This record gives sequence, structure tokens and C-alpha cells, in this order.
Amino acid sequence: FKIYVPRDSAAVALGADEVAAALLAQAQQRGLEMDLVRNSSRGLFWLEPLVEVQTPAGRVAYGPVTAEDVTGLLDAQFHTGADHRLKQGLVDEIPYLKQQERLTFARMGVTDPLSLADYEAHAGFAGLRRALTLDASVVVQQVLDSGLRGRGGAAFPAGIKWKTVAAAQAAQKYVVCNADEGDSGTYSDRMTLEGDPFMLIEGMTIAAIATGATQGYVYIRSEYPHAVATMREAIDKATAAGFLGADILQSGKTFHLEVRKAAGAYVCGEETAMLESMEGKRGVVRAKPPIPALQGLFGQPTVINNVITLASVPIILARGADFYKHYGVGRSHGTLPFQLTGNVKRGGLIEKAFGVTLRQLMFDFGGGSASGRPIKAVQVGGPLGAYVPECYWDLPLDYEAYAAVGITVGHGGIVVHDDTADLSRLARYAMEFCAIESCGKCTPCRIGSTRGVEVMDRLKNGDHQAEVLLRDLCDTMLHGSLCALGGMTSNPVLSALNYYPQDFGLAASVAK
Ligand code: SF4
Repeated sequence: FKIYVPRDSAAVALGADEVAAALLAQAQQRGLEMDLVRNSSRGLFWLEPLVEVQTPAGRVAYGPVTAEDVTGLLDAQFHTGADHRLKQGLVDEIPYLKQQERLTFARMGVTDPLSLADYEAHAGFAGLRRALTLDASVVVQQVLDSGLRGRGGAAFPAGIKWKTVAAAQAAQKYVVCNADEGDSGTYSDRMTLEGDPFMLIEGMTIAAIATGATQGYVYIRSEYPHAVATMREAIDKATAAGFLGADILQSGKTFHLEVRKAAGAYVCGEETAMLESMEGKRGVVRAKPPIPALQGLFGQPTVINNVITLASVPIILARGADFYKHYGVGRSHGTLPFQLTGNVKRGGLIEKAFGVTLRQLMFDFGGGSASGRPIKAVQVGGPLGAYVPECYWDLPLDYEAYAAVGITVGHGGIVVHDDTADLSRLARYAMEFCAIESCGKCTPCRIGSTRGVEVMDRLKNGDHQAEVLLRDLCDTMLHGSLCALGGMTSNPVLSALNYYPQDFGLAASVAK
């Protein structure tokens, strides 16, 4: 019989390796012929390790399973026929999964991430095969028409970047995947690297074909050792099978791909600091222009996209731009893998089309706070995202609608806080985070963040005059910083001041 135990590092951290070992031992003891597949994670983290047993009706899920549960689980499945207390029913029928719109994450949890045969059996490489039949300009146009925007946080149209690189004249062009996923509460990049690496390889290869690049790099944060190992193995397999390297699928096109391990600086998620790091220098932000699309890695035209952006490309090429564009609202097309974390009952990966609301994500999917207390604030878009109060929880999620009320969607990270959270402390943490992670290139961020922590301490200690100074400082950092790290630090600080003034000891009427 066939049984699935995830190999995703979140599942492994919760004991998946021990569960797999116990299953193998039990199968040997009982003389059972067992095909144990280490699949990727479904992203239902409160149920991890989620074990799935193949049955004629479909895969039946059990979770969260420990090594001690394995004997009882096999007894229930194969002998007594009685329901086991951890049985979740058919995995495809679990509402958390059923109510999602999984496009990019369609194979997640379904396949063995390092099986090329499994990948191809689940629509893998269909986008690349189609792209190879098209003129490069048509491939770029497909991405433009799909409305795909950068999923790393900036939401810049991917097709425009590609068009710029394609039009640039140079002997060497590059495709770089930014996998330096440093935002708190985010893991969709990691899940993709570990759980569906061929999808990213396919997306990057399509980008190379479209723009004329022949060399690519995946820049992965050093805190992701499993992702680094999985990507390296996947690249070797794809190269050996002719999907990468010279003469891809006998098309005459060439694209070589390598992994570069990052060194642990948050600022290297900023694209130009990442390029510096890849060139062997200290990760310091470059002034723009020139833009990386014209002068990027080693001064050459470079496509830089985030993992999810590139991973969204295969389905656009395979199903067509219109199919993808049909999802979403306004100018926010397609889906976003939201990452629900913090004080929430059912944290996990939720891929939904734009237009979903925070309330739906936190309550319909998340089940409310883990503590059972009222939710007070939710931080959207990483450590430098705004704290969103309840008045915006029903706003359909869309880049423009959010920006209009000062919220950034960012990389889709959602961190929930209940009513015991002190927003003045959380906001101070954001300012301190900026001071620690600042690359030091520009004054508003380098000096401003350190002074900001001091001013916030004065405010917390009862010096109400410090509020004016803090707002002024945030304004300077917002408009005077060279990159988003310094510029966005005002988001958590001002949203905390504006919506939760009582946490700073200020009367509501004082807030602007
Ligand atoms: Fe460096 Fe901060 Fe300036 Fe960005 S805002 S360039 S991180 S000093």
C-alpha cells in the first residue's frame, strides 16, 4: 500500500522523520508491502505531520501523527476498520484545502518533490514545452497579458521587467530568483523550494527563453538548508533529463542554473543588495538608476523575480494568460499564497485569488485566535507591514485598495495578535529591527532608526511631546530612505500610533 509522509522542514520539525521511520519498522514487522512516499506539505501546519494513506476512494489523512500513533493508525486502517481519533477523512475534502484556489500550490502535498515523473504526471513542464514552440516576444506578451505582478512585495508587473531585459543588447543576460525570504511569518517561498522545485526551475527557464538569458541563479537564504539541498538535487535531475543546460529539449536553447546560498542579512532581500552579495561584496543597497533590468548582476541585464512570481509562470504559459487573469480583482490578478501565522488556531498556507478578506482568512480558515481571546491587530506584509485594525478586516484584498488605506500586501504574510498584545512594544521592535538590519548606506535609515528607538522609549516613559518628533522622524524615513527597509519602517510605527494610541499611553484624540 502507498502512504505519504511529508518531507517539508515544518513537518520534519514536528517529527515527520520519526513517523516515517516508525511506519517502515511496523511494515517490516507486519510483513506489509509499503510504498512510503515523502511528499511535500499541504500547508495545514496544525495537522503536521499529516500522514496520508492511499485508498480506492482517495487519500485518507491522519494528523497530527506522532511515532507513537503509528501502531494504532495501521491497526485502524487495515484491521478494525474503526475510525482512528486522528482521522481527518479524505484529504481533498478537508474544508481548509477545498475552499482554496490552488494554482501555484496545486501539486503541493500531492507529489514527491524530487520525482520528475511525478512532476510531469501532474502537468509539469507543460508551460516550458509550450514556451519552446513560441517566439520569445510572445512568451513575454503572455506574462504581460496575465497581469502577473511581483509577489516579493513590490508588486511590479513581471512582464514589463522581462520586456526590458529582452530588449537590452548584451552578450550575457541573467535570471536571478530572489529566495531570500526574510519576512517574519512567511514561508511560501520555502515551501515552493522544498515542495515543488521543478516548478521554479520551469518558471526560470521560461524567463530565460523569453529574455535571452543563458545563466540563472537561485539566491536562497542560509537559514533554509533543506531548501538549498532540495533545489540543488532538483537542478541536477532536471539537467540530466534535458530540461536545463545546453540544448533544452532539443530546442537549441541554453540555460544553466545554480544555487547561491545567502549569508543571513535581511537587506539582501532588496534586489540590488542581493546582487552585491552575489558578486561577493557586502550586501549594501545600490542607488537606482541604473535599474537591474539594464545593469544588474555583474553589470549585465538581469531579470530578478521572487520565487512565487517565477513559480506562477508555468501555469500561465500552460493554461494561457486569460485563464490566470480571470482570478483576482481590480489590477490584482491571479492568486496569492497567504501565510497565516501568529496567534491563530489553524495556521497554514492558503492560496486564494485576490479579493479575499482578512476576516475570511483569520476566521473562516484560521478559526480565530489560538488563545480564544479577541483578535486585536493583524500585521500584514512582514515586519515592516502595518498593523491592521478591525475596521479594515472586510476590505477585499487588492494591492491598490490596501495601498489607499496605508496597508502593504507585501509577500502575503499575516501575523495575528490577540488583545494581550502591546502595540507600542511591537512597533518599537520594528524600529529596532530596522536599526539592526540597516545596511548603513543612507542617513534617514542608519541614524533615524537608532534615534527612533530612543524617541519611542521616551514616549513610552510618559514624554508625550515625543509623539510629534516620532511622527516627524517617520516622515523623514519614509521619504528620505534609499530603499524600502528604511522607508517602510514607518508602516508598523504609524499604524500602531494611529490605531492603538492607548498602548503608548496617549488619548485616542491625540492620534492623527
Ligand atoms: Fe540601507 Fe536602510 Fe538606506 Fe536601505 S534605507 S539603503 S537598508 S540604510
